[in-house]
Amino acid sequence: MRLVTFELEGTPRAGALTSRGVVDFTVAAPALPRSMFELLAAGPPAMRTAGAIASRAQEDGVGLVDAKRVRLLAPLPRPGKIFGIGLNYRDHAAETGRPAPEVPFIFSKAVTAVIGTGDAIRLPAVSEKIDFEGELAVVIGRTACRVTAATALEHVAGYTGMFDITARDYQQRSGHCIGKSFDTFAPMGPAIVTTDEIRDPGALALRTVVSGETMQQSHTKELIFDVPYLIEFLSACATLEPGDVITTGTPSGVGVARTPPRFLRAGDVLRLEIDGIGVLENPVAKA
Ligand code: ZN
Repeated sequence: MRLVTFELEGTPRAGALTSRGVVDFTVAAPALPRSMFELLAAGPPAMRTAGAIASRAQEDGVGLVDAKRVRLLAPLPRPGKIFGIGLNYRDHAAETGRPAPEVPFIFSKAVTAVIGTGDAIRLPAVSEKIDFEGELAVVIGRTACRVTAATALEHVAGYTGMFDITARDYQQRSGHCIGKSFDTFAPMGPAIVTTDEIRDPGALALRTVVSGETMQQSHTKELIFDVPYLIEFLSACATLEPGDVITTGTPSGVGVARTPPRFLRAGDVLRLEIDGIGVLENPVAKA
């Protein structure tokens, strides 16, 4: 199932993206929680109900809306928390001139930075070094406290795309957290693809295109710390709850590591393509 949050007639709604249109859960399944965050919090039983309703709506048309009539928002507009992983692809560690880490490097990204596909990334006036990082993001669907890698994926609701946009100068001087937390610096989407459709998060090709030029091209099998291990590592420290997001790190090809560096400019269009997830696309504009 491809879970989305969308705007129809001025209100945000949770639903599922299907080949026949968008299934509006507020119409097709009024008993389900209204927001994606609450739907995730209701756990696997609610998710199974949502899946059954999305299938049925494609048959009987109840709650089915023409995709052209809706505007997609971030599938989870306000996550509980966002953890990011630094230097989690060998080639990216190498391009920064640092050795591959022996333990995961973790930072936090403000949840207020989240925007959806199609929304503009706003270039702040205070920095001219805004960089792109295309990433696979994990959405937690069941509370994970001190879980092992062997059972970690049972705690995942699904996967989506995320741009971990970064002000490199702020990152360097004032830390990862603020450098990656400017407003609009967490584009997410287009959908959360549930784990019945993506069974192995380590088997996905991903590609970042900036204004028509491919900048990053890699595969999640290149992750130094894979998704199950990241969940084990993080959940040993902080309880992961439904609606939390882990963005798993970026491969090589980021703007700062290029000669000359390629930072984002007003008028650029960023595109992130991940196998089985689809396309996240964001224009870049002045703040
Ligand atoms: Zn990143």
